[in-house]
Amino acid sequence: MNSSMAIAARTLSCALRRLGLCAALALPAGVAAQPLPPYALQSRVAEHVLPLLGSLRQLVGIESGSRDLEGLGKIGEFIAGHLQASGLAVQTLPTQAPDFHPQLKGAKLGAMVYATRRGTGQKKVLLIAHMDTVYARGVGANQPFRIDGDKAYGLGISDDKGGVALILHTVRLLNDLGLADYAQLGVLINADEEIGSPGSAAFITQLGSEYDAVLSFEGGGFEQDMVRLATSSIASVEMKITGKASHAGANPEGGRNALYEMAHQVLKSRNLGHPERGLKINWTVANAGATRNVIPATATAAADVRARTDADLDLMEAALRESIKSQLIPDTTIELTFRRGRPAFVGNAVSKVLAQHAQSVFRELGLPLQVRDRANGGGTDAAFAGLRPKGGVLESLGLRGYGAHSNDNEYVFVSSIAPRLYLATRMVMDVGSGKLAW
Ligand SMILES: [Zn+2]
Repeated sequence: MNSSMAIAARTLSCALRRLGLCAALALPAGVAAQPLPPYALQSRVAEHVLPLLGSLRQLVGIESGSRDLEGLGKIGEFIAGHLQASGLAVQTLPTQAPDFHPQLKGAKLGAMVYATRRGTGQKKVLLIAHMDTVYARGVGANQPFRIDGDKAYGLGISDDKGGVALILHTVRLLNDLGLADYAQLGVLINADEEIGSPGSAAFITQLGSEYDAVLSFEGGGFEQDMVRLATSSIASVEMKITGKASHAGANPEGGRNALYEMAHQVLKSRNLGHPERGLKINWTVANAGATRNVIPATATAAADVRARTDADLDLMEAALRESIKSQLIPDTTIELTFRRGRPAFVGNAVSKVLAQHAQSVFRELGLPLQVRDRANGGGTDAAFAGLRPKGGVLESLGLRGYGAHSNDNEYVFVSSIAPRLYLATRMVMDVGSGKLAW
């Protein structure tokens, strides 16, 4: 044990004491009671916290940006090996972007890891998370795995390597305890979530229609523990303006300034959102002209759009199309492309049953758990899992942490590992056995 691990262990023992886990009785070796009383499960969970931190260190140590096929291959191998050692049948499924994808055009993407195990219970439970990150190769050197107090830092640790580690150890714990009271346990770890899941979305939707419950392990909150019943839909807008080039000094009147028209359109449409109801538009990229003394003949701009419902996206598209009808510069033309990415996730009645049960499991630990039913702008694979659901989908079962998509300050709370591992394990047990009715 090195010094950072020693600090982790001290932090951990404090955290466990706060949770009352230290006083729990351990089961004698080799004895796996079924059903396991909560206190005994809590004790076994505590034993898995340090190994989980070890897995997190390994996951963070492999850089796995969405387009880094080599890194994704390595991390996929680590994940597959771990799941196999826990008794699951593992498949590594190659993926590629669709040919019609505007940027990726049929490109090869990282392979998904899909693992299954049949049990003796009633219901099928799927656990999902993603192995890819938003970071380019090399950035990881600035933010290696380290533990400082209650915080475990590392690139991609909160989004979403914490979720991956939690799934690996939930499955490991169930295996160690001999608990298989589910009809089927499935795990899907995809490798293209951060670029919109172009290669995995269809498979996730298919699995959502086959499993009774899908638990998605994106981050579980920052200051307060939470699970989510809603995530945003995402769209992108591209605007292309065509004007007419002309000498900027000798004959500016002869040109049609595409840059002016673009600026006009961007400033008009920036207020088309309704932030209070989660509908947002932000222009983020623009290009115009190439030469200082030429009136620019073309200009392009791109915007990011978020909404809580797919209907709101329709409203935004209609408003943009209306807005471009009124122009500043006559004789310029505007082409507008409105591309829908991830749909919105809105939890159904079964999702609500799952969320309420998660709250009651946290209550056993004396901890509060918020159920958020309003999307805040983030979009996740819960949306694809929930498109044609057999049962229900619940989001944000991952670790509590901070700093997703930042490059210098991403961490998870070590003290959130034990309660979250307990929660995930209980969710699989209680859904799988059919104890939860819907
Ligand atoms: Zn994520």
